[in-house]
Amino acid sequence: MPLDLSADQKTLQARALELARGPITARAAEVDRSEQYPWDNVALLKEAGLLGMTIPTRHGGQGKSWLDAVLVIEALSSACAVTGRIAVETNMGAISAVMAYGSEDQKRLAADLVLSGDKPAICITEPGAGSDANAMTTRADRRGNRFVVNGRKHWITGGGVSRLHLIFAHVFDAQGNDEGIGGFLAIRDETPGLSIVKREPTMGLRGIPEAEIAFEDMELPPSALVMPPRGLKKGFADLMNAYNSQRVGAATVALGIAQGAYQLALDWSEKREQFGRPINEFQGLQWKLADMSIRLAASQALVYKAARSGSDGFPDMLMAAQAKVFTAEAAIQTVNDALQVFGARGYSRELPLERMARDVRMFTIGGGTAEVLRNVVAGAILGKKLPQTRDGWTAATSGRD
Ligand SMILES: Cc1cc2nc3c(=O)[nH]c(=O)nc-3n(C[C@H](O)[C@H](O)[C@H](O)COP(=O)(O)OP(=O)(O)OC[C@H]3O[C@@H](n4cnc5c(N)ncnc54)[C@H](O)[C@@H]3O)c2cc1C
Repeated sequence: MPLDLSADQKTLQARALELARGPITARAAEVDRSEQYPWDNVALLKEAGLLGMTIPTRHGGQGKSWLDAVLVIEALSSACAVTGRIAVETNMGAISAVMAYGSEDQKRLAADLVLSGDKPAICITEPGAGSDANAMTTRADRRGNRFVVNGRKHWITGGGVSRLHLIFAHVFDAQGNDEGIGGFLAIRDETPGLSIVKREPTMGLRGIPEAEIAFEDMELPPSALVMPPRGLKKGFADLMNAYNSQRVGAATVALGIAQGAYQLALDWSEKREQFGRPINEFQGLQWKLADMSIRLAASQALVYKAARSGSDGFPDMLMAAQAKVFTAEAAIQTVNDALQVFGARGYSRELPLERMARDVRMFTIGGGTAEVLRNVVAGAILGKKLPQTRDGWTAATSGRD
């Protein structure tokens, strides 16, 4: 447990831990089994003031820092990763982008929805545009005084439960010129043309739907444009900037899951006896537990450092990428080791280890894969645009023919 937290942060953390160890632990297995979105947990988070904490006070939030949000997400995820992700997406991601780039009206709309319990959806990925998000084909065509959006997104977290959607599309002017990527707000069930096509049958994190979403001649007023394209690169740069908070949030969920698994393994290693002694008297398990604790300490240091970083309102891109790559990979290893400490019991659905192993596997994929984030880290430390990134080396930027 780090010592440099303020008294308020320790109180906030204690509040989240109390919920996590009580009702959220009690419901976690059922959330996974039923694959139902945990509205009961949303109500608990709302009552405890843990939704929309990072929203500025003038919009009804508490103006909390990224680190405050991280402390809450870490505590909740140690019991239920789905609830941890809800805390990410009601404090970071789409809501933080609207709060940074939106108009006053857009901010008020988004803040009211989140504070009343909505988890916004962020719609970037498409069947043909995953890591290469810039290749998206969803388009918003300017027609008179409105935009008409057509396209298809997939793997959208919250599709079917979220009301507020932040949708990214290539924006075309009235003459058909591509102006770059912009972000629009739409509300499910209030915006004709937005429909949920299907839910993905996921390996883990089953309490939140991942959905394919279609936009068919979806008409939006200019006031729905939150992040204008501002040239071919700028809108995309804003999107990536806002995504740094989401990445720190995702790393925190992985950290929380690993902490939960480690604690279970530590307790079990004392209780379980074989060969006439607790299994934690065998050096093979002692070293496993030691490695788990080292990985957790390193992950926590990276995540907290990333949460505290940044000078323009969002965490620093390099630190967010470093934290997500390391923490996600370390957490997968830690949960796997924890499951091993339980022997056959770890493989049973009666214990949470197998759920944790399925849940944690996502974090090297969603929100930027470990490989793509390594490209981000390499580009930053080398000070170069790398050939395998969207900016790549072109004749114009490299000076090559
Ligand atoms: C549970 C979950 C939730 C998600 N939620 C959302 C959401 O809410 N909104 C949203 O928009 N998207 C969401 N996503 C999508 C996610 O962001 C993408 O899956 C991710 O960006 C990778 O895209 P892809 O799956 O198409 O993989 P691909 O881009 O096809 O990559 C396939 C493989 O190639 C590697 N690769 C690709 N390019 C490079 C490169 N340049 N260098 C090295 N390796 C490379 C990748 O790392 C990966 O291993 C979610 C995904 C998951 C699993």
